[in-house]
Amino acid sequence: MIPVVMPTYARADLAFERGEGAYLFTAEGKTYLDFAAGVAVNALGHCHPRLVAALTAQAAKLWHTSNLYRVPGQEKVAAKLVARTFAETVFFCNSGAEALEACIKMARRHHYVAGRPERHRIICAEGAFHGRTLATIAAGGQKKHLEGFAPMVEGFDHVPYGNLNALRDAIGPNTAAILVEPVQGEGGIVPGDPEYLRRLRATADEFGLLLILDEVQTGMGRTGTLFAHEQSGITPDIMAAAKGLGGGFPVGACLATEKAAAGLTAGTHGSTFGGNPLAMAAAEAVIDVMGEPGFLEHVRRMAGLLRGRLDDLATRFPSVVEDVRGLGLMIGIKTRPLNSEIVAKLAANGLLTVGAGDNVVRLLPPLIIDEGHVDEAIGILSRTFGEVK
Ligand SMILES: *Cc1c(COP(=O)(O)O)cnc(C)c1O
Repeated sequence: MIPVVMPTYARADLAFERGEGAYLFTAEGKTYLDFAAGVAVNALGHCHPRLVAALTAQAAKLWHTSNLYRVPGQEKVAAKLVARTFAETVFFCNSGAEALEACIKMARRHHYVAGRPERHRIICAEGAFHGRTLATIAAGGQKKHLEGFAPMVEGFDHVPYGNLNALRDAIGPNTAAILVEPVQGEGGIVPGDPEYLRRLRATADEFGLLLILDEVQTGMGRTGTLFAHEQSGITPDIMAAAKGLGGGFPVGACLATEKAAAGLTAGTHGSTFGGNPLAMAAAEAVIDVMGEPGFLEHVRRMAGLLRGRLDDLATRFPSVVEDVRGLGLMIGIKTRPLNSEIVAKLAANGLLTVGAGDNVVRLLPPLIIDEGHVDEAIGILSRTFGEVK
């Protein structure tokens, strides 16, 4: 008999009752160190007092009005994002996939209103992940996500990630934009070379294409800067954000320059829930906390510490660890045993992690971890690798 919750996930048999900081607790009182953070969502950990205060205060005032009216929270959050990024304007939605849908629609409309409707194709990378809607599975191009869902949404070309020549070869008269993740996440934590990202920017400019960055996973402090592309010294024309943006409340955003967004005029795109007052209260609190002096420095310091300790583990357990890679607190451990077995054993030992492509175990801790959490995680990883080696 089919479970009442549709079985689209192969879930671990674990359920949590409460969270605090970097920890999750089951109803039976078992404690887990959460280095999954709801797949890079709980950037400030669980029940951060500033988030709880912002959300409960808003919950007592107003939940939802729709986008038929001005939403002051959107105006505040958009202004803060604009002040801290390349963007001049922001569209709010409820998830990463929806943010990507807005990016894709914006790119097509940009060329359409400029009198170039033939420019509608987007060059994407092999191994990409952009979400599970029909257009975003086509943009991701992964067979396992597309199988059985034909006909596929048209207009996406794929080239190997990191290969500039292949990308330039794929540009044609119908090309509208380039879409990549600065660090491929679901694909197995594959950091884009900063030089590759700089050349993508130059290539987009050379051919009059829009550069779209998917920072749904890499964004909001995850890699040690507010957005990962800052570390390459480039800016995109359009960017998707979500995951960490609401710190656990569902919110996505499509950020853009005025020029890129020129086609998305009144009536061309929308969302009933997008940017509702509750979501905006959460996002504003996240942005404010991340904007405090020292926050991102702390992320970089913890990332350096964790990475150093993981490199030591890799030398101690060469039969378990094949590679450690990543950027900031977005770290992948490529294991020799099946990654799903390692994820399950780590969970049994009290550490939550996430699997990814290329047999990688992802560490995506909340950005508020301290040295003690790093020690504890390394202890559990070390014990677990010792058990399986
Ligand atoms: C998670 C993710 C998405 C999709 O986000 P959803 O909120 O699940 O729709 C898109 N792109 C990247 C890079 C992601 O990591």
